[in-house]
Amino acid sequence: MRTQVGIVGAGPAGLMLSHLLHRAGIESVVVENRSRQYVQERVRAGVLEQGTVDLMNETGVGERLAREGLVHRGLELRFGRRGHRRGHRIDLFGLTGGKAITIYGQNKVVEDLTDARLAAGGRIFFAAEDVSVHGFDSAAPSIRFRAGGEAVELRGDFIAGCDGFHGVCRPSIPAGVLTAFDRVYPFAWLGILAEVEPSSEELIYSRHERGFALHSMRSPELTRLYLQVAPDEEIGNWPDERIWDELQRRFETRDGFTLRRGPIVQKGITPMHSFVVEPMRYGSLFLADAAHIVPPTGAKGLNLAIADVRVLARAFGDFYTSGSRAGLEGYSETCLRRVWKVQRFSWWMTSMLHRFEDENAFDQRRQLAELEYVVGSHAASQSLAENYVGLPMD
Ligand SMILES: Cc1cc2nc3c(=O)[nH]c(=O)nc-3n(C[C@H](O)[C@H](O)[C@H](O)COP(=O)(O)OP(=O)(O)OC[C@H]3O[C@@H](n4cnc5c(N)ncnc54)[C@H](O)[C@@H]3O)c2cc1C
Repeated sequence: MRTQVGIVGAGPAGLMLSHLLHRAGIESVVVENRSRQYVQERVRAGVLEQGTVDLMNETGVGERLAREGLVHRGLELRFGRRGHRRGHRIDLFGLTGGKAITIYGQNKVVEDLTDARLAAGGRIFFAAEDVSVHGFDSAAPSIRFRAGGEAVELRGDFIAGCDGFHGVCRPSIPAGVLTAFDRVYPFAWLGILAEVEPSSEELIYSRHERGFALHSMRSPELTRLYLQVAPDEEIGNWPDERIWDELQRRFETRDGFTLRRGPIVQKGITPMHSFVVEPMRYGSLFLADAAHIVPPTGAKGLNLAIADVRVLARAFGDFYTSGSRAGLEGYSETCLRRVWKVQRFSWWMTSMLHRFEDENAFDQRRQLAELEYVVGSHAASQSLAENYVGLPMD
């Protein structure tokens, strides 16, 4: 089988790349090792930056997003010493000249993009087995896999690695080519999805002596909540009542905030990790999200993956229309500029809000002072806001 761009992974990045290429008149085929149902039911990210929302609207896949997305013009930072805890609103909209974030689940983004690709005659192989990539140090790279029991070789001009951290593209690059930069955090997030109306209209990032907690949502009926836990914590140690009691403690305020409780329909533990490899390209293999991981505190994982493929789609577009290789040559450098800014922001949010096991009383006072500064200073609030709604594209 032959195409122009072979894409590994049907997450938000792979599907958006395929969609953007189609709009530019460039053919692609997507190869995904999970079933369509599995990919569409996977609950992960839910905060879309303004740029991600604008891109979906501008490229004709924003219709359901406009109907069902919850536009948030602010968020709350909650902190304080015992007896003084309260919320402080960051006015994202006012501080960024009218930008906002939109709550819309990653599973819906994936569903909308899949529907759009298939309606336009796009080819996506779901549940592909034994996916491997070959020949990307030459001008004739290929993706090999098994579909419905048959061996397939997909040849193209380029391969895009949109298969995430655990995918096959990055590890296929020969040893010694990539340099990895890594930070593993000494905690994880226990996340739940509960069938209950959110307890606040906006997201709440809560710093507490017992650890960090985040109040988020997926819809007016579904609340998403997270607790900082030990990195080796077992979900079996957390019956529902214990989760709710711990959340209630960590969201407490001096004026008696009460968290709404409801049936927990999903729970799981996610490790916290910052990771980047450089460069994001080897020959005709271009890595998108496969080149990085950010801790979820900044809500950037999905948005960063979309930003990568915007740059990549533009580079392929230039190549196929004018033969120019400048975009392809500059891909890694252009993406890495944003990747590192987003890594910095995600690390900063994480270190400002979490408890660290080796911290002392000085560190705790310093952390509280930093939060006081962020909510008290226009410049500091604005810095948080412009990063949270998404930095402009390069
Ligand atoms: C539990 C969890 C919670 C998260 N919460 C948040 C959040 O709140 N906010 C946020 O911004 N980000 C969050 N993230 C991160 C966010 O989900 C990812 O950054 C986002 O999925 C990136 O999209 P993607 O398309 O780049 O990668 P993915 O969605 O991971 O897509 C990669 C695709 O490649 C496929 N694949 C993998 N290996 C192969 C292979 N060998 N062959 C073929 N296909 C393969 C995978 O099945 C997957 O469909 C979370 C992640 C997890 C795991």
